[in-house]
Amino acid sequence: MKFEDYIKNVPDFPIEGIQFKDITPLIGNPDAFKAAIDELTAFAKEKGANIVIGPDARGFIIGCPVAYALNAGFVPVRKPGKLPREVLTYDYSLEYGTNTLCMHKDAIKPGDKVVIMDDLLATGGTVEATVKLVEEAKGEVVGLGFMIELVDLKGRDKIKDYDVKVLMKF
Ligand code: AMP
Repeated sequence: MKFEDYIKNVPDFPIEGIQFKDITPLIGNPDAFKAAIDELTAFAKEKGANIVIGPDARGFIIGCPVAYALNAGFVPVRKPGKLPREVLTYDYSLEYGTNTLCMHKDAIKPGDKVVIMDDLLATGGTVEATVKLVEEAKGEVVGLGFMIELVDLKGRDKIKDYDVKVLMKF
């Protein structure tokens, strides 16, 4: 499966200078979507994860099917004001703009083995924030999985201590 054939590059979206990688053709194709989720699930299984986390919002698209296939739990990490109960919060900077992420305080139990899944690794800010939330809750981050890595943005520098699986590099 050549996943790259299902990614559309959109110049200057959402702002000038950003090469937006649109994954919707990939997730809209049954064979490509299944192959991508299967590969990320195999990684999560190898790491022994019992919880999958997906950051708001495209992380939900990747993380939920991986959690289901793995028979693991899914924990959403969301933007402020979306989760109804007490949350842990973390602020970070994005490739475009800044953001805060939140996770329910009781979502992770100490010792849970967690994989974090997102569509894309850019500067690494989002995944780093998510790692901090998991570790604040005393979970163990056993792996990080992405469909796409934008290599030039050096997100890997922020996650040197973790096992990473990516399906495509641009
Ligand atoms: P970062 O925190 O810089 O690693 O950014 C990762 C998050 O921002 C991912 O959840 C992506 O959905 C989104 N993102 C950042 N840059 C891009 C891009 N060039 N194309 C598509 N999504 C992006």
